[in-house]
Amino acid sequence: MQKGNKQDLENLCGIDPLVKLFVDLISFDTQSDPESKTTPSTVGQLRFGAYLLATINKLGYLAKQDSNGVITVKVEATKGYEKAKSLCILAHMDTAPDCSGANIEPSLVKNYQGGGIELENGLVINDALCKDLNRHQGEDIIVTDGTTLLGADDKAGISCILQLLHNLKVTDKIVHGPLTIIFSVDEEIGLSTKYLDVKEIGCDYGLTVDGTSEGELDIATFNAYGAIVNINGLSVHTAVAYKTLKNAITIANEFMGLLPQDETPETTFGEEGFYHVHKIEGSTISCKLNMIIRDFTHTGMEKRLQFLDKVKDFINQKYGKDTISIKTMFQYANMQEQLDKHPKFIQMIKDAYKEAEVNVFENKVRGGTDGSNLSNQGLPTPNIFTGGLNCHGPYECLPVGAFNKAYKVLENIVQLLANTTK
Ligand SMILES: [Zn+2]
Repeated sequence: MQKGNKQDLENLCGIDPLVKLFVDLISFDTQSDPESKTTPSTVGQLRFGAYLLATINKLGYLAKQDSNGVITVKVEATKGYEKAKSLCILAHMDTAPDCSGANIEPSLVKNYQGGGIELENGLVINDALCKDLNRHQGEDIIVTDGTTLLGADDKAGISCILQLLHNLKVTDKIVHGPLTIIFSVDEEIGLSTKYLDVKEIGCDYGLTVDGTSEGELDIATFNAYGAIVNINGLSVHTAVAYKTLKNAITIANEFMGLLPQDETPETTFGEEGFYHVHKIEGSTISCKLNMIIRDFTHTGMEKRLQFLDKVKDFINQKYGKDTISIKTMFQYANMQEQLDKHPKFIQMIKDAYKEAEVNVFENKVRGGTDGSNLSNQGLPTPNIFTGGLNCHGPYECLPVGAFNKAYKVLENIVQLLANTTK
C-alpha cells in the first residue's frame, strides 16, 4: 500500500507554485465554531485573513478586510476590457468544525497506482471510501497524517485565486474584465453570506471555487430549512403516574417514528430530499429536537413543511394542546432556477473546462454553497471544482493534477468573460 512522503511534497513545492501556496495556507488553523458568539467565529480566521491581506497587498493590489473578517480585493480590468461583464470570485477561509484543522502534517503520495493509501496513523483511504480516487492513477496526491483534515476545502480554492492574482501581475497575456475577489468567513457554519451584500459586490456574475472532484460543475443545491421541535411533557411521581404522566421523551420518540423512515440522509441519494433529526436533548418534562429539512424542489419543500404541520396537529390532538411546537427557519434556496436564467454564462464555464481538457459533469449539490444565497439574491454564482476529495475529515486528499486543472479552468473563465460586454 502506498504512503505519503514529506520530502516528496517539499520537492514538489519547489517546482509547483500552486502546491507551494496550498501548503503555506494549510499551516493556518481556521476551523470555524458553530457555538461561538464572535464574528468571525474563531480568531484563527482573523490571523489567516491578516496573512492573506499582507500577501495580496505585496502583490500590488489593495485588499481590504472588514470588521467581520471578510477580505475583498477589487481588480481593475485589463485596458480596453472595462466594459466586459464583471465577475466576483469567492472562496472561504474556514475549515469544517467536524474535524481538527490544527497542525496539519501533509505529505505526498507520488505517482498513485490505485488501491489504498495508508496514512501515517494507520487510517486507510480506499476505493470503498472514495470511488473517485481511481480516476487519479498516475497522479501525485497530497494527503494528511490521518489526525486532521487537509483543508483543501477551501484552501485549494484560495490557492487558485491567489495564483490568478499573482499571474495577472506577472503576465499581460491573461486579459480580463473587472474582477472582485472575496474570501469569506464561517462558510462551514452557514454564516458566510450573512456578511456579503450582493449590491455592494456589484458584479454581473459570481463564481465559487469550492467544489470537489475534477470536472464537477455545481449548478443546483438543496432548498434548506432548519427546525426546532419543542415537546412539553407533564411530570408526576411514577407512583401516581397512571393516566397522568406525559413523558416528553416518549412523545419525542413517537414524533421521530412518524417521520418517513426512508427519507433520511442515510436512506436517500441523488435528487431525493430528507428529514434529519441531528440533535435531541431533554427529560420527562420537556424535549428539544433540532432538525434539518432538505429538498431540491420548492413544491417538495412545501410538502415537507406541511407534513411536519400535520404531525404536529396529530400529536397535539392526542396529547393535548401545545404539547408540541415546531419552529421552522429558512436557511437557503436552490440556486438552479436563478442559474437557468443565465445559460450563456454556464455555457462559457463549460467551454472553460473544455479548454482545460476537463470533462465537465453538471452536479446537484446535496447541500448548499455560498452560491445558493448569492444566486437567489441576484448574483448568479455556480461552483467549480478544486480537485479536493473526502472533505471535512482525515481522509481528505488533493490530487495535484486535478488541482492544477482547477486553476486552469478559473483562468480560462476569466479570459472568456473578458470578451463579453454588458
Ligand atoms: Zn467548502
